Amino acid sequence: MVPPGPPSNKVPSTASLLRRGLTGLCPACGAGGQHRWLVRIRPTCKRCGLRFERIEGHFIGAVGMNTIMSLGTLLITLVVSLVVTFPEFPVVKLVVINVAVATLAPILFFPLSRMLWTAIDIAMRPLEPDEVDWTVVYEHARGQGPIIDPPADSGE
Ligand SMILES: [Zn+2]
Repeated sequence: MVPPGPPSNKVPSTASLLRRGLTGLCPACGAGGQHRWLVRIRPTCKRCGLRFERIEGHFIGAVGMNTIMSLGTLLITLVVSLVVTFPEFPVVKLVVINVAVATLAPILFFPLSRMLWTAIDIAMRPLEPDEVDWTVVYEHARGQGPIIDPPADSGE
């Protein structure tokens, strides 16, 4: 028999996970400051201890997300630049702009894609009992103050 997980009102909702991931916060506890420089993230959350690379190969999904976001941005840039310059297309300017977007977008999306992928992974594969400091996660589950547990029954 599978032991029951933490109460659902004490773990972040899927919406909270995704919101935190999209804003670069720790999906489990919402702590910021997880990035070192632009393209490096801490190996673990400094507040709840979540290891961001949850399993070996975890960030392959982040690479896929980064590719999708970068190609989407490049497609939007290409379409908008063609529509704005229609009917005369300044080829050199368009190539320079789109090459710049194609170069910078994956770098800029890199930290975001890692946190967002970690959030999606937690939504699909919930946190394990020994993966985080649960008192911190409970405290910040829904962005509200600490949740006080009712006193446990003394009898068994
Ligand atoms: Zn955390």
